[in-house]
Amino acid sequence: MPDRIYNFSPGPATLPQEVLHQAAKDIVNFKDKGIGLIEMSHRSKEFMAVTEETESLLRELFAIPSNYKVLFLQGGASTQFAMVPMNLLGNGKTATYLNTGTWSKKAIKEAQLFGDIDVAYSSEESVFNHVPQPGDYTVAPESEYLYFVSNNTIYGTQFHEFPDTDKDLICDMSSDILSRKIDVSRFGIIFAGAQKNMGPAGCAVVIIRDDLLDRTPDNVPTMFRYKTHADKGSMFNTPPCFAIYSIGLVLKWLKKSGGLDAMEALNQEKAALLYTTIDGSDFFRGHAKTASRSNMNVTFNLPTPELEAQFISEAAAKGFDGLKGHRSVGGIRASIYNAFPKKGVEDLVEFMKEFEKKNS
Ligand SMILES: *Cc1c(COP(=O)(O)O)cnc(C)c1O
Repeated sequence: MPDRIYNFSPGPATLPQEVLHQAAKDIVNFKDKGIGLIEMSHRSKEFMAVTEETESLLRELFAIPSNYKVLFLQGGASTQFAMVPMNLLGNGKTATYLNTGTWSKKAIKEAQLFGDIDVAYSSEESVFNHVPQPGDYTVAPESEYLYFVSNNTIYGTQFHEFPDTDKDLICDMSSDILSRKIDVSRFGIIFAGAQKNMGPAGCAVVIIRDDLLDRTPDNVPTMFRYKTHADKGSMFNTPPCFAIYSIGLVLKWLKKSGGLDAMEALNQEKAALLYTTIDGSDFFRGHAKTASRSNMNVTFNLPTPELEAQFISEAAAKGFDGLKGHRSVGGIRASIYNAFPKKGVEDLVEFMKEFEKKNS
């Protein structure tokens, strides 16, 4: 087996190799203290310092204003589908949702348990091949918030312009957080599972404006109240220690790599290599409409499902792993998050061109 293959997995996803090496060492013996990272108390001085450093790096790199809390929670991004409406809705309250794929559909289903949900836009009829542009929908005036998914991991679409509304934006940023600079102050809540672009599985990061902490109805259980975790610095109960630590390592790597400006430019370059190849060929067909194309997950089809299966298996034999598209779209999906090397994209492009020559 080669030392390291190219991992195009949508999540858990590839991480910087130096992060893996550092974590492997610290799991056994953290900072040469004679104790492993994952056997330390979450309330120890050492681990509290890890959490503080992770949070402060995230605040710095993502430019999070001081009136926002940063929470490290368990339950993945999917628990947030319920936690958001549990905390912000209630009897007779309304929220607006944009349905741009599987993850927004799941969030809509949960939200309907807690309020009246106005689905103002859906691209389901076109297999979610685009996201709305500003002006394509209207937000109900009585809505408490507008919910959307910034990057649709499965379909390969991404909002390049955020919704323009005076409502609080609530965003599932699981698959493109930290991939570009954004203005956090336009959002009420941003949440993201760590396992796509930030670290390993096991932690959802929630960034919440502090005035939203006091809206939760009285009957919401303690663990599901944002305020519980905000008041205790994510230490109300045992937090996902290893994931928090690993996110910290990824953030250090991100900072060393030039921060979000450098990352955004690199992500655009990487995605452009693939989209240019797709556009220059009649053999490969992109799934997403041009204006909605994602810089994180590039989805495309080949002329037949048989050729797609052959492409995936020949690619795997060459060390390109995880290229099979989600079952709801089929085809190919190349997930090229921050930590995915540009060289891997260049090599895939070369493989695509050879495959086309041999099979078209
Ligand atoms: C992967 C993903 C999720 C689900 O994350 P879990 O942590 O597995 O619950 C939600 N939203 C988006 C956009 C995703 O890509």
